[in-house]
Amino acid sequence: MTTNIDLKDIHWLIDMVHNIDVGLVIIEKDYTVKVWNGFMENHSGLLAAHMIDKKITDVFTSIPKTWLQQKINSVCLLKNKAFTTWEQRPYLFKFKSYRPITTNAEFMYQNVTFLPLADFQGQITQICMIVYDVTDIALTKQAFQEANSQLKYLSHTDSLTQLNNQGHWRNLCENEFINSKNSANPTSMIIFDIDHFKKVNDTYGHPFGDEVLKGIAEAVRQKSKKQDVIGRVGGEEFALLLLDTNLKQAKLVAERLREAIEAIHFEYQNQQVKVTASFGVAQITDNIPNFESWIERADLGLYIAKNNGRNQVGVSDH
Ligand code: GH3
Ligand code: MG
Ligand code: MG
Repeated sequence: MTTNIDLKDIHWLIDMVHNIDVGLVIIEKDYTVKVWNGFMENHSGLLAAHMIDKKITDVFTSIPKTWLQQKINSVCLLKNKAFTTWEQRPYLFKFKSYRPITTNAEFMYQNVTFLPLADFQGQITQICMIVYDVTDIALTKQAFQEANSQLKYLSHTDSLTQLNNQGHWRNLCENEFINSKNSANPTSMIIFDIDHFKKVNDTYGHPFGDEVLKGIAEAVRQKSKKQDVIGRVGGEEFALLLLDTNLKQAKLVAERLREAIEAIHFEYQNQQVKVTASFGVAQITDNIPNFESWIERADLGLYIAKNNGRNQVGVSDH
């Protein structure tokens, strides 16, 4: 079979390769560059005349050689295309993003296709790399993921104190209750409620009451361990899940928190204001059938503490 290729056809083919809005690079198996189109020239600032017959890995030293070799081997062996996406490797050629003002992309995200090129005997002698600029797609996807995680955070978080909100804390509490059934380690809970908080609001105003809630949340955060799960579970009610903690230890933790809250000096118009809180503590035991009962048990402890005069830790036996 003979193929009649007109010289003018080659001209427009070369023209197209040069002007197409994707990167086209042809390399030998030893990485020597044979074709470097206009897209690659424009984004790298390196002309084809400079690149031809150079080894691509000598010019772009950040391309990992072993990785590239594996790609080339697989393309040659399977005589089939191979791909790499921006999610696997953000870029192959580090090009500046040309939208630095409108986006915060520092570089061009790229998808790359590796295409085997055969000679007249059908032997793969060269590899064509097609480089797609996917910066817009990558940024959109990243912004979407960020918005999603922000949304998730907001839906889990109490906006005043930045603690877990009631709904999320209860979900975590339920999970912990289920997990505890398969664990030999004890798990406990503390619930506490600010004493006479209505009076604080009535005397100093609601905004000051909010400052008190924030101050208490911060104190509890500082006094607890990283793995403790703290939540604001009501207007002026807070709760903590304590992993690997038995009732005796939980009582000590509650006592420490009680002292910490009592020690805070709130200030209202140069006047010192003190608040206290009452605590209930409960450990998961065999006779607690579900997480709601566990919360009820801690609530009963809190009720006892309130009844016995407030500013103390209460435990219920029932
Ligand atoms: P006790 O010692 O029995 O707990 O008395 P208390 O006054 O704290 O209890 P009560 O349930 O009567 O009042 C709780 C108050 O908490 C009433 C409500 O106005 C106030 N409160 C609830 N949520 C908020 C909030 O987000 N900000 C402020 N400032 N106050 C709140
Ligand atoms: Mg209350
Ligand atoms: Mg109260």
